[in-house]
Amino acid sequence: MQRIDEVMDEVLKRNPAEPEFHQAVREVLETLAPSIEKHPKYQDYALLERLVEPERQIIFRVPWIDDEGKVQVNRGYRVEFNSALGPYKGGLRFHKSVNRNIIKFLGFEQIFKNALTNQGIGGGKGGSDFDPHGKSDNEVMRFCQSFMTELYRHIGDMTDVPAGDIGVGGREIGYLFGQYKRLTNRFEAGVLTGKGLGWGGSLVRTEATGYGTVLFAQSMMHTRSERLEGARVVISGSGNVATYAVEKAQQLGAVPVTISDSSGWVYDPEGIDVELLRQVKEVERGRVSDYANRKKGAVFNTKGNVWQVECDVALPCATQNELNEDDARTLLKNGCKVVSEGANMPCTPGAIELFQESHILYAPGKAANAGGVATSALEMRQNASRAKWSFDRAEHELTMIMEEIHDACLATAEEYGQPGNYVLGANIAGFERVADAMLDHGVI
Ligand code: GLU
Repeated sequence: MQRIDEVMDEVLKRNPAEPEFHQAVREVLETLAPSIEKHPKYQDYALLERLVEPERQIIFRVPWIDDEGKVQVNRGYRVEFNSALGPYKGGLRFHKSVNRNIIKFLGFEQIFKNALTNQGIGGGKGGSDFDPHGKSDNEVMRFCQSFMTELYRHIGDMTDVPAGDIGVGGREIGYLFGQYKRLTNRFEAGVLTGKGLGWGGSLVRTEATGYGTVLFAQSMMHTRSERLEGARVVISGSGNVATYAVEKAQQLGAVPVTISDSSGWVYDPEGIDVELLRQVKEVERGRVSDYANRKKGAVFNTKGNVWQVECDVALPCATQNELNEDDARTLLKNGCKVVSEGANMPCTPGAIELFQESHILYAPGKAANAGGVATSALEMRQNASRAKWSFDRAEHELTMIMEEIHDACLATAEEYGQPGNYVLGANIAGFERVADAMLDHGVI
């Protein structure tokens, strides 16, 4: 569609050298044509041009002092992409690969993901090229305090609500919250999510992204009268998302057999032991090789990757572009029938094309991993009413939201004559909610 090509050309021109951002925008725009044709109003008021331009981008210096007394300098980011549906909402990523391109791609994805949750949250993302690996707790604390010393003026429970992502978990959120509270003299619980359970956090938030990804896979399988019970599941990653994807898969009777990190991957034919995984990764902050060393029957590999393992279900839960066309071919050859993305944009465009051509069940991250941010919204709800829900209540709400997202994707795909196309369903369902609100608000 010419209108979409024009917008994409402009994005390429105005955002040079940002390949992941281009990829994320292209993946969405490519699927919007039927919606824009059906509703000509979406061509008015430069709606698409405004959608691809962040409302605000903040980049700042983060100086901190390491344990040797040496001054280190990192760069901090917060991209406040779209607030049509609510306060900006999205995680902070601390990883050496972080740059403006990565944060913009994540922020763009977050707009549609958050719209799909139906929880009244806009889209944003932030982070830093700070690498928490190998840093002491004190170094992480000093970094977080310096990061928040700039960020605090841009956020608030009605403005922008950060949370965790890669490299930012409970420890980091604690230090960030402490500094926010100190600087503002406000115990503003709803300014961050993923908080500790003793001071405003929500039960199930830790588990939510991984749980949700598995629940989404299960909903997809039900449309074909298939069951997760007894399925062999291949999972990449070993952080928060992967860990709780393993746990939920096991609870539902499936057998998750792999985990990975940047040093290699583990094949554990009897099924991953979640308790050991949590001990190694969360408590000891170790590597997956430490897991393999302690688990009988588990094998650690440095060559190849988890996608070569035969499976029924694949859950990419590590990072962007971790599953390429060759991996997709191998998965399909080995009989994989379901792919549900726990990470953000883990499959390359070539891989997605192969999954779609072969008509297996494939769910993009903005639908399948929305359980994390949805439960963040539940945390905000509890904070606003000073309530504390039980685990069962929070998990029930999460389950309902995941089902609603699944059904919205399915119904939208059907409405536009492409049944079973979860990519089109997720993009158009999310887009129309945001676009309608933007049109209501006028040109801003
Ligand atoms: N970083 C997560 C995501 O990619 C969660 C964001 C949040 O809870 O705000 O959706």
